[in-house]
Amino acid sequence: MEAILNFKQELTGAFGQPIAENPTQAMIEAAYRHHKLDWRYLTIEVAPEGLADAVAGAKAMGFVGFNCTIPHKVSVIPYLDGLGDSAALMGAVNCVVCREGKWIGENTDGKGFLESLCRRFDPKGKRVVIFGAGGAARAISVELALAGVKGITIVNRTAARGQELADLLATKVNDCVEVELEIEFIHWPKEYAVPAHAELVINATSIGLFPQLDATLPISNESIAPHMFVADVIPNPPQTLFVKTARNRGCEVIDGLEMLVAQGVIGIRHWAGIDADTVVMRQALESVFKS
Ligand code: NDP
Repeated sequence: MEAILNFKQELTGAFGQPIAENPTQAMIEAAYRHHKLDWRYLTIEVAPEGLADAVAGAKAMGFVGFNCTIPHKVSVIPYLDGLGDSAALMGAVNCVVCREGKWIGENTDGKGFLESLCRRFDPKGKRVVIFGAGGAARAISVELALAGVKGITIVNRTAARGQELADLLATKVNDCVEVELEIEFIHWPKEYAVPAHAELVINATSIGLFPQLDATLPISNESIAPHMFVADVIPNPPQTLFVKTARNRGCEVIDGLEMLVAQGVIGIRHWAGIDADTVVMRQALESVFKS
């Protein structure tokens, strides 16, 4: 019997604005090809006033799911049928999946960070310093809290935003953990020295993101010590000045590509139910950044 031809591909994608410089498609479609999935991941520019129509369109066209990036991570929530646990705690969604006809919002940013971190560093019982209090810092700090870190210091330029995240961690998140977390907020108007007791130091700001390659974190480089494990969320370029400084100071480091790949793996797991090959995905991203 002849095989039945099928020209219909399963659809996934990303909604954001701006979106043109987002490299996720290269990484996800490389995984689809590698795993012989005839699926597509579309990079779609969606303005804030078009979000409702875009979500309705995705539902009408039978998307399997989609990622949401800036500025839709919070505003997409009213169009969904439910939220995963950590997305509900954070109040932000970056990955939507259709499960049995219901559109569920998940957050893979923090989980991706944690997955890439835990391959080399056990955060349980550790003291963490996080630069930033935006979406990435919020997702990462909530997952680290749920993973059992001892204390989190949030260091942020805008006091109100930093305090808001510290308050979320000290109240809602602390209610969900076994051992009470120590939370501190440091306002960051000038150079900051990382305290010697810090064991995990994370840049979760957008400092260093292309095209601002020369931008440096306002910190004392001498305060970065070899016993600190360092992470940077910036995927483009992966070798930020902060990453280079930390390596020069003798620290073990994970870069933003590791987090990007790990959160992509979780997204594919939500949509397709498979564990995608991380090497294939990282290579796809590296070749994009080299070209
Ligand atoms: P937000 O806009 O929500 O937050 C940005 C943060 O950076 C804020 O805390 C902001 O401080 C701080 N910041 C920006 N510029 C400066 C500066 N010059 N000095 C001091 N602080 C500064 O962005 P997101 O949290 O969503 O994203 C942050 C970064 O994380 C982006 O570069 C993004 O590419 C990356 N990211 C990487 C992912 C990955 O998988 N690798 C996943 C998600 C995000 P303030 O509050 O004062 O404005």
